[in-house]
Amino acid sequence: MQELLERKKGLHRKILIVDDEFVEREMLGNMLDDMYEVAYAENGAEAAEFIRLEKNTLSLVILDLHMPVLDGYSLLEIMRSDTDLRRIPAIVLTSEKDAEVKSLHLGAADFITKPYEVPDVVRARVRHAIELAEDTIIIHETERDELTGLFNKQFFFEYGKRLDEQNGFIPMDALVLDINRFHLVNELYGRSYGDMLLKQIGDSLHELVSRTGGLACRSGSNSFCVYLPHSDMLRESLPKHIAKLDEMTGDKKISIRIGAYSDDGSGLDMPQRFDCALLACAKLRGSYFSGFDFYDETLHSKEIYSERLINDMDMALEQKQFKVYFQPKYNICGDKPVLASAEALVRWSHHEFGMVSPGEFISLFEDNGLIQKLDNYVWNEAAAQIKRWKETLGVTIPVSVNVSRVDVFDPMLESKLDRIIESNGLENSELLLEITESAYTDNSQQIIDTVKGLRDKGFCIEMDDFGSGYSSLNMLTSLPIDALKLDMKFIRNICTDKKACRLVGIMIEIARLLEVPVIAEGVETKEQMELLKELGCDIIQGYYFSKPLPPDEFEKLVRDSL
Ligand code: C2E
Ligand code: CA
Ligand code: CA
Repeated sequence: MQELLERKKGLHRKILIVDDEFVEREMLGNMLDDMYEVAYAENGAEAAEFIRLEKNTLSLVILDLHMPVLDGYSLLEIMRSDTDLRRIPAIVLTSEKDAEVKSLHLGAADFITKPYEVPDVVRARVRHAIELAEDTIIIHETERDELTGLFNKQFFFEYGKRLDEQNGFIPMDALVLDINRFHLVNELYGRSYGDMLLKQIGDSLHELVSRTGGLACRSGSNSFCVYLPHSDMLRESLPKHIAKLDEMTGDKKISIRIGAYSDDGSGLDMPQRFDCALLACAKLRGSYFSGFDFYDETLHSKEIYSERLINDMDMALEQKQFKVYFQPKYNICGDKPVLASAEALVRWSHHEFGMVSPGEFISLFEDNGLIQKLDNYVWNEAAAQIKRWKETLGVTIPVSVNVSRVDVFDPMLESKLDRIIESNGLENSELLLEITESAYTDNSQQIIDTVKGLRDKGFCIEMDDFGSGYSSLNMLTSLPIDALKLDMKFIRNICTDKKACRLVGIMIEIARLLEVPVIAEGVETKEQMELLKELGCDIIQGYYFSKPLPPDEFEKLVRDSL
């Protein structure tokens, strides 16, 4: 039974016997043709032609060394120097011992001596050579990343472990390299450019580890890991490496971040070293410039805290630990400031940590998509509040809510908003949507389409944090927006720094050009307010008027101004 299975398995494999002696060819063929498809050639030249034609289907070449036209050595050389033919194993037929060494050097897999040994031995050698070659191909394919030729992640960690054991656990440094906003690279410059970039990075890492020793792998679609013998010079050499990578990408808006773990003798194993490097790399996420950072211990306690916040979020939603505060926005175009709307800002009254500010958890939740749940909650609360104020105060106070970039990619966004508006009996124009400028630059077309759809339905869109993203003027003119909200950091120094003041002036000009009102947030003083008014700013939000307030306090503020 086993024999039959073997035969079946072997039947499809094709082997070529190359020998100028008819009798020898036939004898060998007879031993093998019940298990393989056997082809014959009379000399090296004939064989070379056949091998090229059948390069994808041929499993083995058995060749004599001494033949007319082209001998066996030359044929071996041809096969080894051609990358397409290299994978096909060759067995050499020989009667001389010293020929074996030379053939081995030329890449022969095995020998069969003439006169032939018993058929079973010949068959075993043939089968062994074929299996070995096939296994090698499989191993090579599964351990390497196809595009860059670097190890894949699984084998990288496998080999790294082995390397550590073999080297007696010498100190090793770990690097994690990531391309910022890689999907944007693909979108802007095309997939083949993205692939080329990955290949170039792969090559440079390959070059690095062949110089220093160590291993490199492609660990994700746009990330790489490098494991290097420890060097005290890592801090000095990383900027050079980054400069080289930056040079490679030219002036395109591509940036690379590297997180590094420098071995400090604390005896971490390889995966732990990479966990540390990954934390250092994550710290640089979202940066627009290339850079690197080293792991230090504070990152770990920070990570544990972040982990807690992530784990506690569901429970916090259930227990209503999240509170929505409201900060008023005033229209300053007339003689007296007039309350125009409010921004809903979330706070977390954590059962253990007390008040946690959104600065600590929003970006955390953005990274893993949890933000959608929270935003949905805030939108509902804000809508319900608008409805309540309509009833108790008899006026509509439009409220703007923050819409994360993750929300904008959600195909259900429109229907979610519809439901919220409907269940609270509101008009679409009463819930304003703040979308941060950097979201627009991330996936321009999709965002533009989504936002256009929302506007067509009557929602007002405010571009938040304007000036902090990278919108080009050209892009701005095609964006569907109803207001520009200047990033807070521009306001901070307007009264003392001429340049800052000029910059805000320019941004207000841009808003004029686009025919949309300008909102300034983070306005803390009377001077700032007056200067902004002079520059032509329409709406002001900031501590000068009021901090974000819980609903009852906000209501009091409204009543006082009525
Ligand atoms: P943002 O949308 O730019 O919100 C403005 C931030 O500036 C708020 O910080 C607000 O409290 C603060 N602020 C207001 N006036 C002043 C001022 O005069 N001076 C100073 N120094 N700060 C002022 P907050 O509430 O800590 O929120 C931080 C960020 O968190 C927000 O920035 C927003 O991006 C995000 N965020 C807050 N709530 C939500 C939410 O419900 N969903 C989402 N996705 N993000 C939110
Ligand atoms: Ca906002
Ligand atoms: Ca803002």
